[in-house]
Amino acid sequence: MNAKTTSSFPTAAFIDGEWVTSNKTFPVLDPATEKKLADVPDLTPADAQRAIDAAYKAFPAWAAKPAKERAAILHRWRELILAETEALAQLMTAEEGKPLAEARKEVAYGASFIEWFAEECKRAYGHTIPTTGTSRRYITIKQPIGVCAAITPWNFPIAMITRKVGCALAAGCTIIVKPSEETPLCALAVAKLAHDAGVPPGVFNVVTTLDAAGVGKALTADPRVRKLTFTGSTEVGKILYRQSANTIKKLTLELGGNAPLIVFDDANLDRAIAGAMASKFRNAGQTCVCANRILVQAGIYDRFMAALKAEVAKLNVAPGRDPKSTVGPLINADAIAKVKSLLADATAHGAKIEVGGMPDAHGALFFTPTIVTGVSPSMAIANEEIFGPVASIIRFETEADAIKIANATPYGLAAYLFSQDISRAWRVAEALETGMVGINEGLFSNEVAPFGGVKQSGLGREGAQEGLEEYLETKFLCLGGITG
Ligand code: ADP
Repeated sequence: MNAKTTSSFPTAAFIDGEWVTSNKTFPVLDPATEKKLADVPDLTPADAQRAIDAAYKAFPAWAAKPAKERAAILHRWRELILAETEALAQLMTAEEGKPLAEARKEVAYGASFIEWFAEECKRAYGHTIPTTGTSRRYITIKQPIGVCAAITPWNFPIAMITRKVGCALAAGCTIIVKPSEETPLCALAVAKLAHDAGVPPGVFNVVTTLDAAGVGKALTADPRVRKLTFTGSTEVGKILYRQSANTIKKLTLELGGNAPLIVFDDANLDRAIAGAMASKFRNAGQTCVCANRILVQAGIYDRFMAALKAEVAKLNVAPGRDPKSTVGPLINADAIAKVKSLLADATAHGAKIEVGGMPDAHGALFFTPTIVTGVSPSMAIANEEIFGPVASIIRFETEADAIKIANATPYGLAAYLFSQDISRAWRVAEALETGMVGINEGLFSNEVAPFGGVKQSGLGREGAQEGLEEYLETKFLCLGGITG
């Protein structure tokens, strides 16, 4: 069948090149209005098994295609996505809430991974290795790992899919995606465009479900699934890590963060403010690399705070479809409750709300951009992901204090530092226990750079040359019996 939304994107799940419906469905809501956009199939673990069957069946032929042929299909997929930028951005804003300008940027960002991996897969080089014996020769080849499963979050509903699927398909793997129940429509839309671009049946499947735990178990229990790639909370990442142990799956885990953004006395104030605003308020503060703790040194503190307040006052809370919107709604009622409880806990422990701190009149899921000062490292707001438009400010005295505070977390995804002293910038960047450091930059993620965390922020890297390696195995070939 060919289920369509008004924007002509599908609302059915996608298995083995077929659009799959179900008697059981679940609604997808617009967070700005809380109105229903569409119903999508609530598939079961048995449906996930069918998707694995399809991906397993499709794997040998896809893996056997020369990289150049896979790349040609991926380039077509990217072109179709870019050609649909406006419709995809509208769909994303409708189901995720982010301002349209950000949604358009995400479409381009999402497409950039497909371009990168389409190019990179032609360079999946092995090695020749000098022999240890005259009768033998050694080489390594790279082969796709096999059937992969991806479990994705709602905050980047297209890019988190293309970053995984673009890479898997380029490497020669097939994949089953279980998108977030909050944003399945973007996943289905890009799957349709992949199909239109010539991705064969079974190579890319999308299983929509409310039973994330059941489908997660089906995907992790099956020995035919050789790799799991997950972006989401550390809590769920740990469950999937445990579940994957039985079949020794290869794992990429992009988990939670608690990013420090450190502003030293010798920072360029304008750059620090621009970086803090971009890192903090993009997607209403709902990214895993958002500055969760803004550490400001005593000597620049007053100037930084005055400038930050002036910039926050310019933010425009409104539904994402309003062209003037710079801060849209949060994703759901739980997100609003979390922000409120972190602020209540912080103020109960002596922090002060300088700006905002309240729900916003645009609707139940809107929250006013907020600045809270007097935050101490022991407060919940400094230890848990805020995932909302709240700048949480910690004042510090020395470089050593900043490093100590920044690293006092089990997470290690992103960090940011602002300083014009190159020695300090280098020293601090090396001392920070994170997978990524923005130095005088508040936004750094792109397709050519490795994205990922250390400590409990995850395993592996996405994007870049490293990203492709995550979907490849190295096979060693020893050729013996060579006579002189
Ligand atoms: P968030 O709080 O950002 O939504 P989650 O980790 O809860 O982060 O969700 C990320 C993805 O993980 C979503 O697709 C969600 O449906 C899925 N998920 C949640 N719980 C489980 C689970 N037990 N097993 C597999 N996937 C899960």
